Amino acid sequence: MNTEKLSDRLEAVANNIPKAARLADIGSDHAYLPCHVVIKGTVPMAIAGEVAEGPFQSALEQVQEENLTDKIFVRKGDGLEVIEAGEVDCITIAGMGGTLISTILEKGKLKLQGVSRLVLQPNVGSFAVRRWLIDNGWELVKEEILEEDRKIYEVLVAEQGEPLKPYQDLDVELGILFGPFLLKEKTAVFKEKWSAEKRNWERILKQLDEAVQNDETESKRQELKTKLKMAEEALQ
Ligand code: SAM
Repeated sequence: MNTEKLSDRLEAVANNIPKAARLADIGSDHAYLPCHVVIKGTVPMAIAGEVAEGPFQSALEQVQEENLTDKIFVRKGDGLEVIEAGEVDCITIAGMGGTLISTILEKGKLKLQGVSRLVLQPNVGSFAVRRWLIDNGWELVKEEILEEDRKIYEVLVAEQGEPLKPYQDLDVELGILFGPFLLKEKTAVFKEKWSAEKRNWERILKQLDEAVQNDETESKRQELKTKLKMAEEALQ
């Protein structure tokens, strides 16, 4: 992967950035995504945020190498603290766990005023992102699922709106775990992901049945049984 050729995962994120938006890419690492969309002309400028020194330096070097220092501003800081309220229209956060993404959004809530679109790509735990969006007035407008290098990724696109709209004809908890759009589409990749999860949960449940029984194992067992029932429903 490089600036010119993104991974399919990052390309899916890039494709959901609105034309002419002012962008902040949080956790940008090499800043491939902001460099790609600025060079392509999708966006006029971008902020690349990084909390860690190594990736921050990589982003700085990449932006210098591409001669984009007048259009891409690399800033070091935790989550949304690298942007001012009203400075950007679109925020991308990709390649992290869903819990970390929702923590970044929660801590930076005040910076989201004026942001019209979030493009979020949790590697795992996308339910945490969906729950945060519902609790904070963001409406999922699109979801994608894709497979690359034998890993399955989800891309969640949200805009300020009616958070429960995509869940209207669904059990909300089912929608939060599997994704309201993904659940309706049920693509082959979706089925592959949740069949594998289901097999994993069945394996853990079997191990629990063989373990010493106490309140903890019982509560874990109930949790797994609920999830397995939901997976069966989702895979129907
Ligand atoms: N976004 C790129 C991608 O999708 O390929 C890089 C993903 S990389 C696995 C995650 C990056 O997020 C790391 O470079 C890490 O330093 C950065 N990161 C983690 N927590 C962060 C935070 N709270 N604020 C800013 N960056 C963060």
